[in-house]
Amino acid sequence: MHEFSIIQSLIPQLEECIDQGHYKKVNKIHLEVGVMSGVIADALEFAYDICSKGTRVEGAELSIRMVPLTASCEKCFNEFELQDYCFACPQCNGTDLKMLTGHELLVKEIEVEES
Ligand SMILES: [Zn+2]
Repeated sequence: MHEFSIIQSLIPQLEECIDQGHYKKVNKIHLEVGVMSGVIADALEFAYDICSKGTRVEGAELSIRMVPLTASCEKCFNEFELQDYCFACPQCNGTDLKMLTGHELLVKEIEVEES
């Protein structure tokens, strides 16, 4: 499962962050996940519950925000959200699009308790 490998690489990074900041613990982790990243939020939470056991992030809440797929049109510079995988500009029907969001998978913020 894709989500397990993501969480398994994420947890050591978070632990390193705790070490570097000398934090007592992590309360909450905010993740941003693009709808096109292929990641399922439920599966990510499930993987996190299992993989965080026995680590220093155990008990921290995982908050996942799904980021919609957005693009800008190279022709009329309209920015819009892509619906139903329709890869055309709703304003001018142009198909020369630049993807803006929707593929990200990143830790946006972590809430910690200072020691
Ligand atoms: Zn356009």
